[in-house]
Amino acid sequence: MTLSKEFVDLAYLVASVLFIYGLKGLSHPRTAVRGNLLGALGMLIAIVVTLFEGDIVDYRTIFIGFVIGGAIGAILAIKIKMTAMPQLVGLYNGFGGGASVLVAGAALLEVLSKAQAGDAASAALLNNPEFTISTAASGIIGAVTFWGSLVAFGKLQGLVTEKPVRYTGEQIVKILILAGALFFAYMIVVRPEITTNYWYMVAIASVLGVLLVVPIGGADMPVVIALLNSYSGLAAAATGFVLMNNVLIIAGSLVGASGVILTNIMCKAMNRSLLNVLFGGFGEVQETEKEGDIYAGKVKATSPEEVAMLLESARRVVIVPGYGMAVAQAQHAVRDLFNLLESKGVTVEFAIHPVAGRMPGHMNVLLAEADIPYDKLKEMDEINPQMEQVDVAIVLGANDVVNPLAKTDPNSPIAGMPIIEVDKAKTVVVIKRSLSPGFAGIPNPLFAMDNTLMLFGDGKQMVQEIINALKEG
Ligand code: NDP
Repeated sequence: MTLSKEFVDLAYLVASVLFIYGLKGLSHPRTAVRGNLLGALGMLIAIVVTLFEGDIVDYRTIFIGFVIGGAIGAILAIKIKMTAMPQLVGLYNGFGGGASVLVAGAALLEVLSKAQAGDAASAALLNNPEFTISTAASGIIGAVTFWGSLVAFGKLQGLVTEKPVRYTGEQIVKILILAGALFFAYMIVVRPEITTNYWYMVAIASVLGVLLVVPIGGADMPVVIALLNSYSGLAAAATGFVLMNNVLIIAGSLVGASGVILTNIMCKAMNRSLLNVLFGGFGEVQETEKEGDIYAGKVKATSPEEVAMLLESARRVVIVPGYGMAVAQAQHAVRDLFNLLESKGVTVEFAIHPVAGRMPGHMNVLLAEADIPYDKLKEMDEINPQMEQVDVAIVLGANDVVNPLAKTDPNSPIAGMPIIEVDKAKTVVVIKRSLSPGFAGIPNPLFAMDNTLMLFGDGKQMVQEIINALKEG
């Protein structure tokens, strides 16, 4: 069955509109599920229509690819821990880039063989710069994305050193390698019949992908992954031009643009510029205040019973969740605590830092999963000015996002990052297992402040014990 061009274009338009509405829906937790479904419906329409667009498709190969790819995707998605989500997303971006390299390369080979067999349309396409330039762009951006994403995955998974790998002449080496890749890209445009140029270009761009990400510290990998996400979109859009497929161009551009927006949001939340992330070498060990000096004799441990007593007499409580809440999977216990305190007339709110956890929206997702009402989630800028009126701030598995060193120590790797100012609350209860540092690897003077009590233990277990003590009390 072959669909008419008008029908295909109309279906692609519908799919594109669904993508845009889907993205709009994703901007708010209340509409996110519907947004996701709309996007998926758009993708289903795009795929089905593409399959029937012409009789060029070998359905058996597609079916085999679908089964193998689908099985790998399903197994990864089911097995992956919530805390390892950033590297999974990184890997998916990489696969997108790799696919663009292969599709553009295959298109070049196919057009060449048809042209050599005497097909005039293919011969014209081969000499059309729109086709050759987009093929080269797909190859370069796709290879950089694939290898860059693999390195990012390796860094987050602990397979590659998390430390920034730096060397003298780094920028010059990268510029020379980029120039090499661009030379072969130029050769593809002027001599498209020599297809080995494509693979040389891809090999050089692959080296560039590795060298671009290796000098960036593990702490910045989530930002790099957001940027690579954007690259994977650009590679897909370029492939859309190669295949002259409108919906791929539109979907790729949307991914490219949203990846840049996300990168920007993350950089702002960490008070860093993108250039500083890419070339700054964050994650290098810096000389900050020593742990011993900060904590010596000043840390006060508490018990669930004591925290329950504090909460009994509180009127306003703010919970600041962090990465440790995700590790402990404490969100359902937190919901029970929230319900119990609200039933006792205590106002309970959640202060959400934009980079709490390990991926954007990490805390929102967990709290939504536990049915915490959205209007109880307060952004940092909203809650900070009210912090002095808070009776008890419970810091649950968060560390860097409440670390006052961000404001006081210009040498700290989180210097300048806006924090949730729990130190201004009347009492702060920090729930974590030890005095170990968070992601940035630095001590936290909050733990030694006069108004701070440390409740040492697993996040979920401690919250449950507080609930038990409240019920008994
Ligand atoms: P942190 O990584 O600073 O701290 C998490 C704390 O959780 C640790 O100190 C750990 O202490 C504690 N913890 C771990 N497991 C448990 C458990 N089972 N029960 C209780 N506590 C536990 O987390 P934050 O959320 O405060 O900060 C996020 C960090 O990640 C920031 O540095 C941010 O810049 C970075 N980041 C986040 C991104 C994002 O998109 N969200 C992107 C890029 C970077 P202990 O071992 O003592 O229990």
